[in-house]
Amino acid sequence: MNEFALIDKIKKKIPKNLQGPLGIGDDAGGLKAPKGHEIVWTVDAMVEGIDFLRVEKSKKRLGALSPEQAGRKALAINLSDLAAMGAKPLGCVVSLGIPPNMPEKWVLRFYDGLITFAKQYKTACVGGDITSAPKFFASVSLAGSAPAKSLVRRSGAKPGHGIAVTGALGGSLRGSHASFTPRIEEACFLAQSFKPSAMIDISDGLLQDLGHILESSKAGAEIEMGEIPISKDAARMANRNPMKAVERACTDGEDFELLFTVPASNKQKLTKVWQRKFPEVPLSWIGRVEKQKGVRWTFKGRKIRAPQFKRLGFQHFR
Ligand SMILES: [Mg+2]
Repeated sequence: MNEFALIDKIKKKIPKNLQGPLGIGDDAGGLKAPKGHEIVWTVDAMVEGIDFLRVEKSKKRLGALSPEQAGRKALAINLSDLAAMGAKPLGCVVSLGIPPNMPEKWVLRFYDGLITFAKQYKTACVGGDITSAPKFFASVSLAGSAPAKSLVRRSGAKPGHGIAVTGALGGSLRGSHASFTPRIEEACFLAQSFKPSAMIDISDGLLQDLGHILESSKAGAEIEMGEIPISKDAARMANRNPMKAVERACTDGEDFELLFTVPASNKQKLTKVWQRKFPEVPLSWIGRVEKQKGVRWTFKGRKIRAPQFKRLGFQHFR
């Protein structure tokens, strides 16, 4: 594989209007942020054999990705992180490590997946880097922006605030870990209209990511088990065992849904507006923030013992 020829082919795939204000070809790419916006940045790497498997090598393994899926996911996981901040994407740079035996075609198809998705989310691809590596990896760094006052962080949850989650959770390994929709639109709407006190995207699993919010906010929570939205895939993987299904929804991870808190006084209005604005995306109120650290559980309003899950969170193939 010739590095410069490959870079040229990749460059030709990226439409001019997605190359940023400077175009591709300088030592650094450029981005323009809307006036009055803050810049936020995120980066996430996917390593073959650790974070994902290649379809060609393992046709039947659950969770294996085609090159197009890998390209889509490499960008999508970063878009989900921007969504968690209430930010919109501006542009990305992509760093690839390519193993010696990898066909050029695989890399080009990876970019096809990434660019198709970048077009959908109006995300510029302003540059990148290619190196050789023992295993394939892709590291995408994504910049985004939001008005300073609508940026949402993990640290603002206050006792009494309601805890909400979008979508349905668990069983992502059956497919949604690769095909999920980053909740950019929903998150920006939330950030601008309802100012969540804390927000995160669920990558490590509901409980682990809730833990991140509670730790940053120096608070605890009460969670209503009966309100946790369980995906069809989680129920199927749990063989319809309800407790196993809850465990999957709480700990599988890679759901890439939004978990956020808002003042209780906003719950009713948000629920109403949400149903009208995002009829396809369920919104579930799963509990409330409390002063006392740790998580207490209820089921249909009654206190229950905390479920003993085998793991707190899950990382694919680790
Ligand atoms: Mg995240």
